Amino acid sequence: MKLTVLGCLGAYPYNGAGTTGYLLQSEGFNLLVDCGSTTLVRLEEILDPLALDAAIISHYHHDHIADLGVLQYYWQLHPERDPQKILPLYGHTLDTVHFEELSLDKVTEGRPYFEAKQLELGPFSVTFMRTIHPVVCYAMRFVENSTGKIFVFTGDSGYLADFKEFAADADLFLADTYLFAGNERHKAHFTSKEAGELAKEARVKRLVLTHLPQFGDLKQLQQEAADACENSAIVELAEVKKVFEI
Ligand SMILES: [Zn+2]
Ligand SMILES: [Zn+2]
Repeated sequence: MKLTVLGCLGAYPYNGAGTTGYLLQSEGFNLLVDCGSTTLVRLEEILDPLALDAAIISHYHHDHIADLGVLQYYWQLHPERDPQKILPLYGHTLDTVHFEELSLDKVTEGRPYFEAKQLELGPFSVTFMRTIHPVVCYAMRFVENSTGKIFVFTGDSGYLADFKEFAADADLFLADTYLFAGNERHKAHFTSKEAGELAKEARVKRLVLTHLPQFGDLKQLQQEAADACENSAIVELAEVKKVFEI
């Protein structure tokens, strides 16, 4: 499978870079994972948005859904869209107002996912874990059925020891790292140190730091995570348009 970063900042876009959004592709299936600010324009540069097969949303904070409404309009109004084709948008149902907004008549259809139930989504089997966050948010573990390769996305989360199991043996662990070391046990986000420690404990092969802060030295953030995982994993920073082969 292939992961392309469309946006990798937390909270708000800054200096030309947007907030959380990723394109996950396997066997011709195109899945959008979160849809933050600038996601749609970045996506247009690499894939026709009408070629999406589905989108899945970790939670309904603006930095993860800012472009969802305009994606719906793109599908609704683009003259080349096949009107028979409906785009499934997967989200949790514990915020009914936002869940209902995933559906736009004859354009997109909100579909629920549940923590206790594995979701079969194209070439992937997906499981979910609720995270530590001020609003309900789910981490996602994608297994590519044809290869057994594992991609884990934390969504947004404060430190949660259960990631040791949830991210176990991941080929790529994409982790919310909005904070520098020294701010541990925050209520909403990992620090670099926590991301690194969990990557080591979960025996992941690659750790990619994302949901990055707008300020501070990102090389330092990366080094802090690398120190914490004691080089048990490759540690990289997400960057707009960076591609990861998993
Ligand atoms: Zn966020
Ligand atoms: Zn959030």
